[in-house]
Amino acid sequence: MQTLKQKYQENADSEISFTSEVTYERTRASNKEVLKDDALVETLGRNVQFKVQGCTLYAGGNIIAVLKTKEKAEELLKEIQDRSLAGADRSKIKEIGFAEKIELKDEFIDASEIADKDEIIEFIIKGTNEVKTHVIKSGESFWAISRKYNLSLSDLEKANPGVNTERVQIGQVINLIVPKPLISVKTVETITSVEKAEFEQKVEFSSSLYKDETSIRVKGIYGEKEVIADVTKVNGIETGRTILSEKMIKEPKTQIIVKGTKDPPPKKGTGTFSYPARGSITSRYGMRWGRRHTGIDIGAPYGSSVKASDGGEVIWVGYKGGYGKLIIIDHGANFVSYYGHLSKYSVKDGDKVYKGQKIGEVGNSGNSTGAHVHFEIRKNGVIQNPTSYLK
Ligand SMILES: [Zn+2]
Repeated sequence: MQTLKQKYQENADSEISFTSEVTYERTRASNKEVLKDDALVETLGRNVQFKVQGCTLYAGGNIIAVLKTKEKAEELLKEIQDRSLAGADRSKIKEIGFAEKIELKDEFIDASEIADKDEIIEFIIKGTNEVKTHVIKSGESFWAISRKYNLSLSDLEKANPGVNTERVQIGQVINLIVPKPLISVKTVETITSVEKAEFEQKVEFSSSLYKDETSIRVKGIYGEKEVIADVTKVNGIETGRTILSEKMIKEPKTQIIVKGTKDPPPKKGTGTFSYPARGSITSRYGMRWGRRHTGIDIGAPYGSSVKASDGGEVIWVGYKGGYGKLIIIDHGANFVSYYGHLSKYSVKDGDKVYKGQKIGEVGNSGNSTGAHVHFEIRKNGVIQNPTSYLK
């Protein structure tokens, strides 16, 4: 037995252990039945099973691979890290490890289980040996490919680390297999970045505004802070960060908003009209290019407030032909007013509004060139010259 073991150990270049139990019994036999030397060793070899010593690599309690020696297993682990960190600035990384608990155990195993590092490393990194790719054709985007193969955009990005997803080129080969690594490399690096510092907001009250009105008196400005953080990444993707220090580089500016305290006027027509927006009149009522302009145009910044010219009830909120986004208010006493080309509505059909209440925002919708509000007054359904009513 000892000879056999020695022979196997030489062949396997490793410790071996017999798994068959060998027992000895005294018996009678003829001389030619007694096996000697090589013949005995050979017969024993055919009948006993043995295992060789290898090093089993566990990740998170699962067997990942069996290598011949601990050194080979350590080489494999190092190569997995090196591949994951290819292109990374190692000087910034202060810890390199694995996301899973890695254990190396010397065990006796079947010789056939021993794997070669170079043969298994791809499988450990990708979780599969499957290869599936797509070659970019004219007009195809990363997004279109993700739709085509029913992959999420983030999975497709994971399958193609280092690829600029915004700029794919015709003929470029895109990997469609999302890696599910059996072992993931975990790093901690200290990163310094400049980030936005939020501003505070203070509220002041004013009797010159109505109760439901607010205005910004001082616009808040974001500051800048230098943040030093330990960033944990698994396979290059951030999974967490711990802030080590924050230093203000530029102080933020506090925002001051003013809230009104004045009771709003009654939500009904007063019989007088005011300008619905702040701005200059860019087109008057009357004949224009051979056609009658049915109101006045007030040029004002896109998004600025449009206010009810008089109190009343909102009777139209919606898109209407050349008016674009339009609001119509019924003021009673047979007067209605129109506010066209809006970008946003602040009221809905049926709302009661007071004179001067914000109803929407200036826009450029409908038949319009440039941000303005088209304002119209009608009496008994007849178009009026608004200028003669405005105060
Ligand atoms: Zn107009």
